[in-house]
Amino acid sequence: MGILTIKILGNGGCVNNGLPYSACLINGHFLVEAPPDLMVSLKKLRLDFEKIDTIFISHLHGDHTFGLPFLIINKWINTLQGTTSTPLTILGPQGIEQHVKTVTEAAFSSSHPCNAWIGDNVLFKIISADFEMKLDGLSVSCFDVQHIVETYGLLLSANNQKLFAYISDTRWCQEVEQVLTSQPRIVLMDMNGGDPSIHVSLSEVIEKGLPITGSDTICYGTHLTEEFDTIHANIKCAKQGEEIVIDYENRKSNQGAPD
Ligand SMILES: [Zn+2]
Ligand SMILES: [Zn+2]
Repeated sequence: MGILTIKILGNGGCVNNGLPYSACLINGHFLVEAPPDLMVSLKKLRLDFEKIDTIFISHLHGDHTFGLPFLIINKWINTLQGTTSTPLTILGPQGIEQHVKTVTEAAFSSSHPCNAWIGDNVLFKIISADFEMKLDGLSVSCFDVQHIVETYGLLLSANNQKLFAYISDTRWCQEVEQVLTSQPRIVLMDMNGGDPSIHVSLSEVIEKGLPITGSDTICYGTHLTEEFDTIHANIKCAKQGEEIVIDYENRKSNQGAPD
């Protein structure tokens, strides 16, 4: 085995022209971000939310977390019916536990039993630039990026190969350059544009990213205001339903068509 799959659930930024919000699902069970329309995207792509056992939250903004109450209430219902299987691990920055409890209470009131379900079924882990864990035989680590609030990116590696980097909401910064310089096979990154002190833009990736990633790295743009046409072989627009497959024993990757 040496297959890593990344399913694009959505590519839209906080403010966008109707795109599904940015998120992806790794190996069918590791969710990266929980945007407001999470359940809609999962259902549309016929993905089973019960398979999700680990969630990475880059930062505590609503476009990355407001799907959690709806995932939680669906899992709570399945617990009542005896059809749920998974305890849930949520990785996030300082304050993640209180944030999840606050948004779930705001969604369904403090008396709703799904609040107690969180206490019984969710394990919270605080991430930092030192965070490391194993997942499906891969090394998972986090790195700082520079956004309005404390925010982290995610890196998956195997056998000293950098396979996948997720560069969440950030301005162009030294940490982004470091990750791109390490030339991961696939990068999924903020190309929102707009205020350059808050988000990276497609033109910055072209001007500053391509010279340091080289020809083996494919950068997918996400957290977009609108989709863009491919203008360079190494930069693509992430599309909902697309499955990116990295075969890391045979060192090749390919991209499937969107559903
Ligand atoms: Zn965002
Ligand atoms: Zn944000």
